Amino acid sequence: MNKITNKIHIIGSGLAGLSTAINAIKKNIKCEVYESAKMAGGRCRSFFDKQIELEIDNGNHLVFSANNNFLEFCKTIGSLTTFKLISKDLKFFDITSSHVWEFGLSDNLLKDIFFKCPIPNTLFFNYLSFLKFLFVKNNTTVNDLVGKSKIFTTFWEPLTLAVMNTSPDLASAKVLSNVLKETIFKGKKNCLIYQPIKNWGKSLIEPAVKFIKKNKVKINYNETLRAVDTNQGKIKELVFTKKKVKVKEGERVVFAIPPSNIIKLFPNFSLPSDYNTILNIHYKVSSENQKLFKNEILGFVNTISQWVFVKKNCIAVTVSDANKFSYFDSNKITEEVWKEICTFLGKKIQYENSKIIKEKKATYIQSPKNNFLIQKFNKQRTNHIFAGDWTQNDLPCTIEASILSGKKAVESLRYFKNA
Ligand SMILES: Cc1cc2nc3c(=O)[nH]c(=O)nc-3n(C[C@H](O)[C@H](O)[C@H](O)COP(=O)(O)OP(=O)(O)OC[C@H]3O[C@@H](n4cnc5c(N)ncnc54)[C@H](O)[C@@H]3O)c2cc1C
Repeated sequence: MNKITNKIHIIGSGLAGLSTAINAIKKNIKCEVYESAKMAGGRCRSFFDKQIELEIDNGNHLVFSANNNFLEFCKTIGSLTTFKLISKDLKFFDITSSHVWEFGLSDNLLKDIFFKCPIPNTLFFNYLSFLKFLFVKNNTTVNDLVGKSKIFTTFWEPLTLAVMNTSPDLASAKVLSNVLKETIFKGKKNCLIYQPIKNWGKSLIEPAVKFIKKNKVKINYNETLRAVDTNQGKIKELVFTKKKVKVKEGERVVFAIPPSNIIKLFPNFSLPSDYNTILNIHYKVSSENQKLFKNEILGFVNTISQWVFVKKNCIAVTVSDANKFSYFDSNKITEEVWKEICTFLGKKIQYENSKIIKEKKATYIQSPKNNFLIQKFNKQRTNHIFAGDWTQNDLPCTIEASILSGKKAVESLRYFKNA
């Protein structure tokens, strides 16, 4: 048996927790997972919704081919073939001007953007704002860098919202710069979009759980960690809803849960406390109406809707930075967003049924101030470590960040002194 640790207790079975378990299995380390929900997946779960009688994703997710940790994870659990790669040009629609344009992918993407000026009524120099992201200070917001750019509302704002779920006046330009350097700046090979053929549950969560179970690791569902007993900073006991678990000498705990739940266990920690909502509206449509959409993903500008995902019998719309809609009437938002879709299609069509999901704490607000808090936060303590998308402060809160955090948590076990 591996001498690094006797066993890891993993709290949370979102992607960070699953990734921790899978990386522990790869290193032959014993582990056990505890999850408060009745299923794994956390924010990336999929479920059958009785209201619209479809299996839907909690949120529309897209992953770029630049995301190597995601790719490695899928290879390990054997699910890469359950994804499709979208390499078609990304289509955008601006409801105010009625302009439609395509963002083509090429090997020398940045050069092509400069020469082709894809957004209507723009010129070469409007794209020079890209270069500002080459050198960015930690305390700069996206607005500070490109707030006055001619392509702000048509490019920088939608990109920032999609990547960081944070409005550009608050969003850390450093994080966006890290994303640009790994995607657009590297060209087409890093900008292809991975989408599951069925849904995220089938492609990512279910195969991960199957891999974990096959390796005889137990996932305890409906077990919320309510409290921790500590002694001189060392976790001695985990107090769950239904049981207490002793953390023995040589064992470790990985907390793979969001900061909002960390703070309930450790009230004295300084962590971000402001979050942003993401709305997802799922419209069930007939196959005939689905065929009216020629692209699998569409970007909308100057609308409530930001991204439209065309799935089997379902049009799913994402609205990020949606705290302002939290208390709006759901039926009204559903109708308004559908009107935008009909405007894009140029004809009025009906949906059969709809479901709106308001994920209130989708991500913390990724501002320079919050980034700094996370940077300062000591993720590795006496006998425990913190994982989760939020711990990777140089990346946005994404699937890639959560998978990477689990991998890093297991790798860092070897730096523990014998606690
Ligand atoms: C609507 C939406 C859209 C998104 N779009 C994208 C996208 O397009 N691309 C992308 O890459 N990312 C996207 N994300 C982000 C992505 O979903 C997350 O970064 C990722 O799923 C986070 O995984 P995690 O394991 O860190 O946290 P979580 O998924 O939050 O997992 C934490 C788990 O811990 C459990 N838990 C919490 N507290 C306790 C406790 N006390 N005891 C036991 N269990 C506990 C929870 O039930 C949960 O299962 C989106 C997120 C949302 C909500």
